[in-house]
Amino acid sequence: MYDSKNSFRWLNEQKQSMMDLLIKLADQNSGTKNARGMGLVANIIKEKLVELGADIVQQKLPGYTDIDLHGIKSNIEVYDFIVATKREKSDRSLLLGGHLDTVYEKNEKKVAVEGDYLIGPGVADMKGGLVVMLYALQAFEKLNIKNKIGWQIFLDSDEEIGSIGSKQELTKLAKKHQLAFIFEPAINLRGDISGNRMGSGKFTIVVVGKSAHVGRDFNNGKNAIIMLAAIVQKIHNWNSLAKDIIINVGKIFGGDAVNKIPDLAVAKIDVRFSNKDIADWFKNKINSLIKEFDQSLGYSVQLYGKFTRPVKKLTDKAKEVSAKVQQIANSLNQHIDVVDTGGCCDGNNLAEFGCITIDTLGVLGDNIHSSSERMLIDSLVSRSQLVLELMLNYQQGKLL
Ligand SMILES: [Zn+2]
Repeated sequence: MYDSKNSFRWLNEQKQSMMDLLIKLADQNSGTKNARGMGLVANIIKEKLVELGADIVQQKLPGYTDIDLHGIKSNIEVYDFIVATKREKSDRSLLLGGHLDTVYEKNEKKVAVEGDYLIGPGVADMKGGLVVMLYALQAFEKLNIKNKIGWQIFLDSDEEIGSIGSKQELTKLAKKHQLAFIFEPAINLRGDISGNRMGSGKFTIVVVGKSAHVGRDFNNGKNAIIMLAAIVQKIHNWNSLAKDIIINVGKIFGGDAVNKIPDLAVAKIDVRFSNKDIADWFKNKINSLIKEFDQSLGYSVQLYGKFTRPVKKLTDKAKEVSAKVQQIANSLNQHIDVVDTGGCCDGNNLAEFGCITIDTLGVLGDNIHSSSERMLIDSLVSRSQLVLELMLNYQQGKLL
């Protein structure tokens, strides 16, 4: 039987095998809309969960309604929600988890090693993190004291679009567990973990005007692009009216032939906020703005979307646990900080129900969500050792 020292050494020896698993996971595209690809990624992970002796329950998630840049609504199917459980009846339980989906609609290039880094779609966010989680658990399961902790893993498949379908299941899990580890990438290449997180929501504005021939009938047209431009300019200006909110008009589309007055224009907006009051302020403001423009001058203006992630504000207890995580990391010679971020993840949803969530225990990486996303190869081992040490501390009642 292993002791913790042996388990640390064992993790050191697993670097290549962790890399191999990560390359296999990242080479398979699993963009949120690619339900089939996610199934293939899930199968690789489920194999590992079976080896760990976990009971696996898989359930269908409701799809979601997407409005594309042509204003067309469609139902998008997403992959399942998976829960794996081991020793449900133990004295202490730990929730671990992450997402299977990535932001990449297709894999433009193969995963490749470049110096100390592995580059590829989802290597940091968060397939690298899933590998860290699996190997930390494998190391833990080798120990005598394993029976003192039961664990549950969730894998969702719609995190990158706000966990709309998974929200209900996340809530159930949050209410069942006191403590959760999520394997989002560390905040930076130093390995910092997140403190407070902003909440978020995504909105779509669809403006319908009236098409007309430019040369023959210009004055009878209603130019949807011009109307939408006026609206988004106003919305963007709200950034300077209030702090604690970030409003990003991130995507815009309109028009068809240049000799035709465009009758359709669509904008997509990402909003981040630090408190509920400011989110309510935005909602009221955008609703009255849309009302003001809709039907006026013969245009139709529609708003879709909502806030899906609540603010994650660390409670005193959560601050205490985060500080202990920092100390434990320091004791392993991993010098990390706790820093606030505007990014959101499932940790926002779990923390809302009082589950203390350390949500950036995945690999160290950067350029996430871009074509040069990369992760520091050594962090596969160092982070899994940190997670193992955190589990040992939790088992001894030293973490919480
Ligand atoms: Zn992520």
